[in-house]
Amino acid sequence: MMKPAQWAHAGLSFKGLSLAGVRTSIALPELSLAFDVAQGLPHTIGMNTFLISHGHMDHAAGIPYVISQKAMHSHKTPHFYMPESMVDPMKEIMNQWGLIEGHQYEFEFIGLKANEAFTLSSRHLVKTFPTVHRIPSLGYSIYRKFRKLRKDLEGLPSEEVAKARARGEDPTEERTELVVSFTGDTQIEFLDKAPEVAKSKILLMEATYLDERKTIASAKEWGHVHLDELIPRLDSIKSEKIVLIHSSARYSLEEAEAVLKKRLPPHEQDRVLLFSGR
Ligand SMILES: [Zn+2]
Ligand SMILES: [Zn+2]
Repeated sequence: MMKPAQWAHAGLSFKGLSLAGVRTSIALPELSLAFDVAQGLPHTIGMNTFLISHGHMDHAAGIPYVISQKAMHSHKTPHFYMPESMVDPMKEIMNQWGLIEGHQYEFEFIGLKANEAFTLSSRHLVKTFPTVHRIPSLGYSIYRKFRKLRKDLEGLPSEEVAKARARGEDPTEERTELVVSFTGDTQIEFLDKAPEVAKSKILLMEATYLDERKTIASAKEWGHVHLDELIPRLDSIKSEKIVLIHSSARYSLEEAEAVLKKRLPPHEQDRVLLFSGR
């Protein structure tokens, strides 16, 4: 049951577990990053960058443990990005744990606001987006950078491109493509606050409640998404794949899959899927 699931799309693999209130941590080994750390699970220890959505324990309790495991394996200093209000308390926790263990660890905690961007690697950028939850929270979008023929040269004969080169110009320009977004815990309104997220090639989004066993009002009260709110918005989401995470433990995996099969419109059955690692 605790075995991380693996799923891949568009050249990226996703390895992890997500179960509401229990654990959420999904690693992208190709980018050496993990979205949230749950209690500090073995499949994330090899990652360099950790993008923490918010401070609820099912998402973030493992930060000290990940740091200690990485130190034990002599990994390089890990970077943890998180909502800025988490940074000082997390430093204090590490400080106190350092006193317990008689050892101070190396780590970087970087506090972020919504709509901040930073460079992940030569080929990738990360940008935060606002989410709506019971405590300060952020979603993360990963953009792939690539070079393409300049817009002003598109459709022109190849001699024009050669002329630009001869003038010492670079006929290409940098473009970005939004490859994956991760919501962490949020109400459905993140789609209104950050419309760009709906264009992510892959959208990992929470859907905690899936049927009438919980009401939309109760989903909102707890800062979560109900499938009843998502279904009418599916047309507005342009993603190739919508991967639902953080389903409630009141549904077994089989039940959750059966509910989706029953409730999703037929043309969405291939596009919307439940992440099977819980
Ligand atoms: Zn949660
Ligand atoms: Zn939460």
